[in-house]
Parts: sequence; C-alpha cells; structure tokens
Amino acid sequence: MAEDCLFCRIIAGKIPSKKVFENELVFAFEDINPQAPVHVLIIPKKHVATLNDTDAEFNVYMNAMFGAAREIAAQRGIAEKGYRTVFNVNKDAGQEVFHIHLHILGGRIFKWPPG
Ligand code: AMP
Repeated sequence: MAEDCLFCRIIAGKIPSKKVFENELVFAFEDINPQAPVHVLIIPKKHVATLNDTDAEFNVYMNAMFGAAREIAAQRGIAEKGYRTVFNVNKDAGQEVFHIHLHILGGRIFKWPPG
C-alpha cells in the first residue's frame, strides 16, 4: 500500500468506488470517466507503478488480472462480441494513474489504430 496512491486508497476503501470484482490478488471497479458502455479497471493489490516495473514474481498478479478480465467480460456479455484490454504505460500512452491497471472496454465498436 502506497499512502499517496489513488488506487491503493481505493483498494483500502478510503476513496469510494463502484466495485465490480475482488479476490485476494486483484480489485476491479467502474472507471469514473467511462470511454465505452463497459469500462472497468482491474488493479493488483500490490503497488507497482507501470508495466515496466513488473517482473516474473509479479506474474501471479498478471494472471489474476487477466482471469478477472475474462470473468468480467463474460458477466457483462461482451466476451463473444468483443472488447479491448489496455495497459497505458507512461507519458506517450497517456498514463495518468501510476498504479498499474488493466482497462476493460466494451459495448461499442472500437477503431484501429487507436487514437
Ligand atoms: P490511465 O490513463 O491509463 O492512467 O487511466 C486512469 C483511469 O483512471 C482513467 O480512465 C480515469 O478515468 C480513471 N480514474 C481516475 N480516478 C478514478 C477514480 N477515483 N475512480 C475510478 N476511476 C478513476
């Protein structure tokens, strides 16, 4: 837990969120500024700033994040139609919160390449 981290504070319940999913490794909640009808953020319960800061030991959390993604996509009815998973990493990708998070976006058609 990093005291000055927004997402650590959400996990700890110090900042309110709309919880979607939780287990011992990850927490998922609705994005406050949704970019699609489904926009959920999945975060590990271990503070790591970006994908660059992960290592093999962290893979247990990555596995849990993708497991949660599969479950949430199925629950929201977007698994078959399609959805997008995104890690924004650092400035050029527009990362704003420096606690690694997996975006799950669905419920509309996405363009490629992304903007
Ligand atoms: P990123 O640009 O990849 O760092 O994404 C950060 C995401 O966190 C954005 O989509 C924000 O809308 C979202 N966000 C920021 N603050 C909150 C919050 N308090 N509750 C839920 N989502 C948030």
